[in-house]
Amino acid sequence: MSGFATRAIKAAGRVPASPQPPVTVPIYQTSTFEVGSTQDLEDILEFRVPGHSYTRYSNPTHAALEDALAELEEGEAAHLTASGMAAVHGAILSFVGSGDEVLAPAAVYGGTYGLLNGVLRRLGIAARYVRTGDPEAVLAAIGPATRLIWLETIANPTTEMADLGAIAAGARERGIPVVVDNTFASPYLCNPLSLGADLVVHSLTKYVGGHSDITLGAIVGGVARVRAAREVVINSGGNAQPLEAFLALRGLRTLALRMDRHSASALAVGEALEADPSFSRVWYPGLASHPQAALAARELRGGMAGGMMAVELTAGREAAARFVERVQVAVHATSLAGPESLVSHPASSSHRQFSDADLAAAGLSPGMLRVSIGLEDPEDLIADFVEAAA
Ligand SMILES: *Cc1c(COP(=O)(O)O)cnc(C)c1O
Repeated sequence: MSGFATRAIKAAGRVPASPQPPVTVPIYQTSTFEVGSTQDLEDILEFRVPGHSYTRYSNPTHAALEDALAELEEGEAAHLTASGMAAVHGAILSFVGSGDEVLAPAAVYGGTYGLLNGVLRRLGIAARYVRTGDPEAVLAAIGPATRLIWLETIANPTTEMADLGAIAAGARERGIPVVVDNTFASPYLCNPLSLGADLVVHSLTKYVGGHSDITLGAIVGGVARVRAAREVVINSGGNAQPLEAFLALRGLRTLALRMDRHSASALAVGEALEADPSFSRVWYPGLASHPQAALAARELRGGMAGGMMAVELTAGREAAARFVERVQVAVHATSLAGPESLVSHPASSSHRQFSDADLAAAGLSPGMLRVSIGLEDPEDLIADFVEAAA
């Protein structure tokens, strides 16, 4: 008989098969998978047979979420990443190299801006920023070195929307691929692939996870595009973790319910603040006052617009900085899309390096606040915001 250590390792490594399938996806907390022959391993690595060899490449818990996201985003395949930024990085580098240029929204997500303007600039990849509200202006900005158009369904914090169908159609004629960061809409409110985008990325940290407790990302699209992005991700170590994938699967099952509530509450809060003199402006794509209300109604599901809005305080920058310290129901924190409402002041946080003129060029103002409407009772949020602004 083998020694104790050998038996313990064998005995504790036996994986039970359950004749009754579990109702939720198990967490496959393993870094590696037993393969039969060297041929079996090669077949898995070359996608000739389905299977797993190493969790940095794939894992059954990841695969369950990847399949679900591919289906819900109307793509063929998906690949999970450690964070939304790992998805952004993998997607961009699967399209561009040294000497190429990326067109991105003027109000692009701060992390994406940091990647483009820091890391990728050093590698000889240039970025130019355009307001995405006018599809003709985006297409007119395509230059000789442009190899990728990066869009966000709803930009941050301005809530400026991009007409994904119009831009994707024009870009296709010019042979330029389009990638959409669909984080703010979630797969429930918009499916950019069906509007002509080549690839979609998500920060699952946000609405899909939905509980402010994970960081995770995904790249979704056709098989070849996703494999190209996966190649970047697995070789740069941006892989997801099984526990995070499990929690995002749990979140995905209630995504529709939560988005319905986020959207209804945000509309109620937006309407109330629009009528309050402490607020000079509310930007929310679900409001008739939004410059792209018609686009929002067309591009987003059922007249909903999610939970993200921007509000501007009549009293300006100092009042906005005070507002985030005074809220009692909402929380002053970065991130978004959790059950709790979150507020932040871009001019003193994410955009603190911007002068007032730079802010204006990106569509922001010094008194603007970014608000992620959570799942609380909307009347409590309205009272909280009115009080904090007074
Ligand atoms: C949060 C966010 C990201 C980055 O996601 P992480 O999970 O924080 O890495 C990218 N794009 C948008 C629009 C986001 O809101």
